[in-house]
Amino acid sequence: MTNLVNFVQNVSSRSLNELKKRTAIDDIFPQKEDSKYIARRKKLVELLKKKGITSQLVLDALGKVPRQFFMPTSLSELAYEDKAFPIGTGQTISQPFTVAKETEILDIQKNDKVLEIGTGSGYQSAVLLECGCKLFSLERQEALYNKTKEILEKNGYQATCLLKDGFEGLLSEAPFDKIMVTAGASEIPNKLLRQLKIGGIMALPFGEGEQKRLYRIRRLSETDFEKMDCGPCAFVPMLKGINRE
Ligand code: SAH
Repeated sequence: MTNLVNFVQNVSSRSLNELKKRTAIDDIFPQKEDSKYIARRKKLVELLKKKGITSQLVLDALGKVPRQFFMPTSLSELAYEDKAFPIGTGQTISQPFTVAKETEILDIQKNDKVLEIGTGSGYQSAVLLECGCKLFSLERQEALYNKTKEILEKNGYQATCLLKDGFEGLLSEAPFDKIMVTAGASEIPNKLLRQLKIGGIMALPFGEGEQKRLYRIRRLSETDFEKMDCGPCAFVPMLKGINRE
């Protein structure tokens, strides 16, 4: 702060205004945006296109979200690798391709009411919000919930984050246009299926063993669901109950 004050005293009034503007932004954003990150983000979007993501809405959303904001500072340099990374409490920030694929499956329309299971780092939440939906996000790990809620708020991402077991869903806000599960389920979360609108879509990583596959499930009627296999995927497990450690 002293350095900043000294510096401020030595600059012209025009650059002083510039500096004030920058400082105000830095106060809100805990981690910095930088031209090198912007360039890497563009390359990442190109890579996602090559890997088969076609939705322009999804590509634009990933092109806007600064992934480094949602990762430990020690890993910022790796933020635009198409890989998952640890974020503490044994959890990971999902791989950008996976985030893009799951978002594409949901075919988000403006103002869709979306339920996300597994807030995690908040990166997927930010991508969903950039697509223009209204988002409710549940996380079972208390420490992660507290931290991520703050990161999202500080960066201007308005999601309703709740500490809650995703297997229960969020009955008070149901039905949802879309539901995205971002942890690998080894049993079908039936309560979630019932909280989907008729015509609504759920993205669900599911499989009985270690290997999961990503499914797109569309609710056709009160009782009928259509299931489409969208290929193999890797996720941390979907676990029951709240973890307050
Ligand atoms: N969307 C996240 C992915 C995080 S990994 C991101 O972009 O970073 C999956 C997250 O799901 C973890 O944070 C894990 O704690 C959470 N999770 C696992 N089972 C859950 C459950 N039953 N309810 C809510 N969250 C759950």
